[in-house]
Amino acid sequence: MTETTAPEGVRPKTGARSAHAFVTLVTNHDYAMGALALARSIGRTQTTADVVVLCTGGVDAADLAPLGELGCRLIEVDHLDLSDGFNERHARGNLHAAAPFAKGRKPAFHSPLDNFCKLRLWQLVGYERCVFIDADALVLRNIDRLFGYPEFSAAPNVYESLEDFKRLNSGVFVAKPSAATFAAMLERLDQPEIFWRRTDQTFLETFFPDWHGLPVYMNMLQYVWFNLPELWDWKQIGVLHYQYEKPWEASHPKAQQLEPLIALWHAFYEGKAIPDIASLAGPSATAGSRVA
Ligand code: UDP
Ligand code: MN
Repeated sequence: MTETTAPEGVRPKTGARSAHAFVTLVTNHDYAMGALALARSIGRTQTTADVVVLCTGGVDAADLAPLGELGCRLIEVDHLDLSDGFNERHARGNLHAAAPFAKGRKPAFHSPLDNFCKLRLWQLVGYERCVFIDADALVLRNIDRLFGYPEFSAAPNVYESLEDFKRLNSGVFVAKPSAATFAAMLERLDQPEIFWRRTDQTFLETFFPDWHGLPVYMNMLQYVWFNLPELWDWKQIGVLHYQYEKPWEASHPKAQQLEPLIALWHAFYEGKAIPDIASLAGPSATAGSRVA
């Protein structure tokens, strides 16, 4: 399929410039901020891959303009055409009631239903391989080798204990766009009474039960900083992912504990000088400022 006959629900204005793309998703003003820091961070790695931002109609043109200026390929997408029952079960209030978040806090601007738009990545058939990265992440070194990984690859959801290795985190994954896979996904996704408690993450884990594991450093979750500090290694981190609270929130309950990581995010977002990542101080050196 050529890109002039774009699949339904996906409206590219320009063509692919590479066989590979980093893809993120933006459905509102806040995640557009995240995507700007992410795009700047990817730009520093001298990748030859495209950077694609899937955006829904709910995002202001003014929020997307800086992404376009950075050279991102903006692709407007529709929400998936899901049943009313599905949308109701996965609406923020209902999902939080049915499957509460006990470990951290989701910001008010996070709409769980929007996460399912990630699946539109499989409609980007102009690319041989895509690496999806959440908009609340930073790429800290060149990770182009991920384009050589098979579908479906993701890192384990590690931020607290060994148990975490049993699950994947869908903030970073490697996939191969395919109309057939996309159709099979839609078939599986919206069934009567189905409830995906962690939205796209639970779905992808179910759809790809034999998922391949990426190194944990390809999706280093911010909570590792205080929960598993011995795992932290600035020299190895490919992607730093601010799961739960976001670094651009005016204040949040973990802000003091995560201060060095938040400062790093702001340096990218504001286009300031980026320190030498490999020689940044690790969590133990800042333990004195950590909250018990
Ligand atoms: N997202 C979005 N709007 C939303 C919710 C999610 O654009 O209302 C996108 C965005 O790319 C975000 C990703 O989906 O990074 C997953 O959500 P989030 O990162 O907040 O989840 P967490 O990593 O905290 O589980
Ligand atoms: Mn995330």
